[in-house]
Amino acid sequence: MGGSECRLTGPDLDEIAYRTSLEPLARQNRLRELVLATASFAMMAALALSVAAQPRTALQPMPAQEWFNNYKTYLSRAARVEKSAEAHYRLGRWAWEHGLEDEAWEQWVKALAADPDHLETRKATGFVDTEGGWERPGQVNPEWVSQVDAAGRGLSFTVAIEDDASAAFFDELSWRLRRLNWFLWKITEGQVYLKEVKVVDLSTTGRFVVPAGQLDVPVMAGGGASCANPGRPDWRVISGGRCYVRILGHEMLHGLFGLPDERHGCYCLMQGGLYGIKTPDLRLCDAEYHRPDPSAPESCWSIIQRRDPSMTHPNPADYGRAPEVKIEVVDR
Ligand SMILES: [Zn+2]
Ligand SMILES: [Zn+2]
Repeated sequence: MGGSECRLTGPDLDEIAYRTSLEPLARQNRLRELVLATASFAMMAALALSVAAQPRTALQPMPAQEWFNNYKTYLSRAARVEKSAEAHYRLGRWAWEHGLEDEAWEQWVKALAADPDHLETRKATGFVDTEGGWERPGQVNPEWVSQVDAAGRGLSFTVAIEDDASAAFFDELSWRLRRLNWFLWKITEGQVYLKEVKVVDLSTTGRFVVPAGQLDVPVMAGGGASCANPGRPDWRVISGGRCYVRILGHEMLHGLFGLPDERHGCYCLMQGGLYGIKTPDLRLCDAEYHRPDPSAPESCWSIIQRRDPSMTHPNPADYGRAPEVKIEVVDR
């Protein structure tokens, strides 16, 4: 649509919303540490049972049917939501609380489009009010980032959209890429990020490709993603235009490190299908968390470190928050 257009990103959007989901995780980790540090074997077993009997926290997936019912409720609410910042914000909050994270963001982006200063939405999407305007908390550590760049892990690539995309589509995809950047940084403990992404419509060549007819297809209608040539230099992600950020991250990790799918039930991003678990509570399995299976004998962190010995886990460095991804939109 229209002539050629070039835009840089606004600020990244993520932190407070993510923090809200971290509380139950921290609580459960504390319990776990207590168990490991102090208990005899019998006490451990008793405590483990009491942990298991607690109400579901962010660490336990929602039954798929419950999640799917929430999704259907969301679709009917989204179809008739009032077009005001407040209404979009509230529906987003509802989605967030019912395990529908990307749907929450869909509504919050609309709320901010209706009113860029809508306070509750700004808070939910992780902004703080500063004298210079809305900003994200935390600092980028430029020295650390330059080391990541030197190791070739600040990624630059093109997203090709085969169809003619609208300005609204480019906006939605841009916030998705900003969230993806945040997510990659977090799950790799500050060792991989998106540096520059060029998004081009009416094009077929890119590291990411949104095939014709896939622009507005939701994940549940087949708009997910897949990875071609995983673990090879020419890996590519084929994706629906509205694919969930966690799925994009999962596919990129197939591509970058050749990680296997872990459908046997490892608690790991590579399992997929962890309904209701929020992105910040996802992790890559390591020796401690990995559940071995003939299809995945080795933990994800072990594979990553074998492929790239300069990667560290756990990473003790003060890596700070993710640098902003520079997004260039070429709207043809
Ligand atoms: Zn794993
Ligand atoms: Zn695993």
